Order: sequence, then structure tokens, then C-alpha cells
Amino acid sequence: MPTDSETGYDPTLGNKFIFVTGGVMSGLGKGITAASTGRLLKNAGFDVTAVKIDPYLNVDAGTMNPYQHGEVYVLKDGGEVDLDLGNYERFLDEDMTFDHNVTTGKTYKHVIEKERAGDYLGKTVQIIPHITDDIKRRIREAADGTDVCIVEVGGTVGDIEGMPYLEALRQFAHEEDEEDFLLTHVTLVPYSKNGEQKTKPTQHSVKELRSIGLQPDVLVGRCTDKLDAETKRKIALFCDVPTDAVFSNPDVDDVYQVPLMVEEEGLDEYVMDQLHLTPKALPVDERDNSWRQLVTREREGSVDVGLVGKYDLEDAYMSVNEALKHAGLAEGVDVNVVWVDSDDMDDAEADEVRNEHRERLESVDGIVVPGGFGSRGTEGKIAAIEYARENDVPFLGLCLGFQMAVVEVARNVLGYEDANSAEMDPDTSAPVIDILPEQYEVSDMGGTMRLGAHQTDITPGTLAESVYGTTACTERHRHRYEVNPEYFEDFAETNLVFSGRAGNRMEILEYEGHPYFLGTQFHPEFRSRPGRASPPFVGLLEAVMEREGIPGADNGADSEEVRA
Ligand code: GLN
Repeated sequence: MPTDSETGYDPTLGNKFIFVTGGVMSGLGKGITAASTGRLLKNAGFDVTAVKIDPYLNVDAGTMNPYQHGEVYVLKDGGEVDLDLGNYERFLDEDMTFDHNVTTGKTYKHVIEKERAGDYLGKTVQIIPHITDDIKRRIREAADGTDVCIVEVGGTVGDIEGMPYLEALRQFAHEEDEEDFLLTHVTLVPYSKNGEQKTKPTQHSVKELRSIGLQPDVLVGRCTDKLDAETKRKIALFCDVPTDAVFSNPDVDDVYQVPLMVEEEGLDEYVMDQLHLTPKALPVDERDNSWRQLVTREREGSVDVGLVGKYDLEDAYMSVNEALKHAGLAEGVDVNVVWVDSDDMDDAEADEVRNEHRERLESVDGIVVPGGFGSRGTEGKIAAIEYARENDVPFLGLCLGFQMAVVEVARNVLGYEDANSAEMDPDTSAPVIDILPEQYEVSDMGGTMRLGAHQTDITPGTLAESVYGTTACTERHRHRYEVNPEYFEDFAETNLVFSGRAGNRMEILEYEGHPYFLGTQFHPEFRSRPGRASPPFVGLLEAVMEREGIPGADNGADSEEVRA
């Protein structure tokens, strides 16, 4: 088949594609299974990328509340995407772009715009072939230049929203050579009351796939334990795959162990064999072993870090949690994240709950106040920051956490009692945080914040410089508000120092005389990776460990430097 501009098909490209679908129910962790497969292929020497398909009508994740799909992940190009892209960046240690998140909104918008422009003149524009072609083109473009592209289809097989994608996938399988296409189906294998692993849900979801013309090549059973031999044999028989194409993915506490687990079952070797990737793979003893070394590293102890937020949902702060873990890996300690509900801390009606969260806050070794929008819970965040500042507790404020630290100092040091962000209180007499001037004219909510990677210049001789070890950093942003320039002079009278700037825009703050009080207008958590922990998080842990007297792996010169 020749190159095709509608579908992106080009026989000379030679990419391999691994599609990953999910059966039975959502939330099975098929993204982690997919990312783990990618990690193992990378270890074997292949260039790997990933595409996440989200079958919702939103153009991107940016307009969704974190209660819907967890945190909105921000890419370096400013794309606001599904949090699974964060998993791919962390597992593959590769930067993705906005084009690596395909949504129904994006696809339909593009096709309808083409129709209006007259590009399909004379034709009836339809889901098949126009939407399906556009889906295939997007996948192939994202895969360009890599050896293997992993494509995760969000949702569960059988969902109405997912149908055009599964049809695109069916066509894809036909267009590509057999050895360039692999379909992995991840399903649930529950236990019956009498402790038996049940395969029927898997059988039904594979039947559903087959009814639309798709036969999975690999089956991964999510179960609390490993699948036993009889379960694998049964799944193989009913789903028409060889027994050695059935793999277990049992529950684990630490997602970074999943690549090791599926490697043990031989998933990587099977996939490479099916895709005829074996000739290019590094021999086992020459593969990149750094992941294993990192995630199996001995820990010297553990620390408690309080996360003060308003969404009582772990996924809402996924990248912050992961960045803390990465810093823990770098420092050789386990980080126990303690949830502190900023809303409850702030709730005057519910004394008992408030006290419980206040007690939690006062029990932790370090405090992180993450990003957020809207006024709910901000008074609790300000109270937590005041506590950290006054009690020398290591503190890291991210985006809204940075802004609330400015408000806290304005109120409690400068004495501007009703100081606030104009976002929370438009009528405050001291709007120390105000809207970005370029946002005045913005009326559309989607994709219009200050987004993506921007450079920050760091003042030499500051805590920020010792944390980053350099006088410039490039981190990802997502905000509409900033420190109001009218108050720069007032803050110059306090210990609050703006030690990182982008022109006249304040990007990093610190508090002189405090062991570790750092705030960033940007989100350093989005660049944190298991082998390359984010400097502000590492600095936080080093300060915590010093306070707690934990030696840690890199103790000594490093931590002294950070605190200098
Ligand atoms: N709501 C604040 C702003 O828009 C902070 C954003 C954030 O924390 N990501 O500036």
C-alpha cells in the first residue's frame, strides 16, 4: 500500500505498534502494564514512545475537574493531558507532546473543521472512514522516528465511545504487516468466594473484541495474585491464544516494581518475538539495568511528608506523589505521604475533623502545598504554610502553594490582614497575587493559561541556586495568576526573597532564616523521573532528613550545600 496522507500509512517507516485495550472494568492499571512493557523494550535497546487515546469529547483534559480523571498532566509544549502521559514520561524517560494524547474532541474538531473548509467537498463525512482515518494518522505521526509505539486505548472494550477507536485499530491491523502489530488485552481475573481464579469475565471481554474483528495476541490478567497455570491454560483455550501468551499482573504496592514483575513472566521476550524485534535487541546481560537497581535500592529509613490539598483523591496529586517517591529513591528513604485535607483544616463547623487534620499536619516531618484552583481550602493551605514557616518545618509550595505562601507572608508578616489572591477574593484590599496581564482578554477556558516549559533565571547565592545547582532552570507551568508587581517593594522589607524570575515575573520564592521554605510558580513535579528526581523535592527531603537525623544515601556534602 502506498503512502496515504489521510491515514498516515507509509510502508517505509517500519514502526512497530503495540495496542493495549482493557476489558471487564476500568481502573485496571492497563497504562502501567503498557508503560512497563515500554520500559522493558527500552532496556533492550529500542526507541519507544507512547500514545494515549481518551474517548471523551473534551478536546483535552485541561477543562476537567481532577475528580473526573485525576490530575491534569502538563507537557513541555503546554499540552494539558491525561495523567497516563505522566506515567509514560516517567517509565520511558521520554518527553511526550500534545500529539501523543488523542481525544475524540480533537479528532472530531479537526475533521469538522476540514469539512467546513471544503476539504471533503462532495463527500458525506462519516465516522468510517474519516474519523477512523484521522485516528490512524495521528497514531502514525506520533510514532514517527521510533522503533515501537505503544498505544493505550482508554476506557473498556464495549463502551460506545470507544467504538471508532477499535474500528480504527481493526483497520490498522490490516494495513500493517503482521509482525508490526500486536494487540495486548488487559482484563480482570477475580477470585470467587471459594478462592478460585475466575476466567469468565476475561472470556466475555475477549468475545466482545472478537465480535468486532479483533483477536488479541497477548492477554494480561490483573489479579490480586499471580495467575496459576490452570487459569492461564483456561484463558488460552477460550480466548484462542497460546498459553505462553497469557501473563499475570498481580497487585503491588509500588508501580515501579511492575516492569520487574512482567519481565519475570517473560512478557518482554514474548512481545519482541512476536514483533520480530529480537534481532535488534541487546543480549540480556547488556540490557539497561538501571531501573532495577534504582527501584530495588535499600532504604535507610522513612519520613512523613504532609500533602495539604482539597481533593481527597490520590490521583488528583499523582505527579507530586511520584516526585516525592523519586526524591526518596535518590536519597534512599521511603516517603510516607500523609494526607492533610485543607478544606477540613479550614472548616470551623467540624471541630473534630479539623483537629484531626491539624494534628496530622503537626506530626509530619515536611509539608507540601500543591497546585489548585478556586478558593475552597485555601485558608487551610495558608494556615499550613504559616505553621511551616513559624516552626521551621521544611516546606515546598507548588504553583497555588507558592501563591498562598505570598499571601501568608503578606498577612502575617506585612500585616495586610485581608491580603489574598484576586482569584480567591476579587475585593481584597491587598491583591498580592493578581491575574497575568495577558489573561485580561482571555474568555475561552480551554488551553489558554500560561502553559508549558518556560525558563527561570535563578539568583546566585540563594537556596534556589543550591537546590538546582545552576542559575537557570526550565520547568512546566499552568497558571493564570502571578505575584502582583505592585507589592515587590513591600516584600523586599521582609525575609521573603524572590530568587527565581522570568523577566518581571516571580517564579521561585524562599524565606531567609528558615531551613527550607521554597515555593515555585511552576510545577517541578511534571519533570521528575525515577532516575532524575526533581531538585526542589530532593532539597525538601534533604532538609527533612537533616532535621530528623537520618543519614541517607547522599548525606554529607550534598545536604550541607542545600542548606547553606
Ligand atoms: N489558580 C492559580 C493560578 O491560576 C494556581 C494554578 C495552579 O496551581 N496550577 O494561577
